[in-house]
Amino acid sequence: MPAAKTTAKLAASQAVEDYLERILELINTKGYARVVDIAQSLKISQASVTNMVQRLDGEGLLHYEKYRGLVLTTAGEALARNITRRHQLLTDFLKLLGLDDEVIYHDVEGMEHHISPPTLRAIEILTRQLERQPALLAKVCKQTHEN
Ligand code: MN
Repeated sequence: MPAAKTTAKLAASQAVEDYLERILELINTKGYARVVDIAQSLKISQASVTNMVQRLDGEGLLHYEKYRGLVLTTAGEALARNITRRHQLLTDFLKLLGLDDEVIYHDVEGMEHHISPPTLRAIEILTRQLERQPALLAKVCKQTHEN
């Protein structure tokens, strides 16, 4: 069924994005990303991580060698940087509104997979504009935290 197939494909690409995002984060903070670190970070079994990492290797997004760890390919790093950028822009926007850090993280982890480039761009512009208009921002924050 086409609809089911589309949904499965979307879910798969969301998982791919989560993996790439986390791998880049590990590489940036620790200098490397091992299966054991990814498993710990995503709270997924090492066997599942190994399967996914082999799949991502097959798709040309990273190079994986057992016992030697993995490196992102140019394509994999581009995707990882893109999802990281979406995460950062959405986080900047919600932080500006004074929302709770935990709520922000949870919401951004969902939103980042679904947001289109035009909507992300609009949010980026809105964020920069709000930063330049403290009075308006204060009004928005006040109303957000009422009730
Ligand atoms: Mn994220």
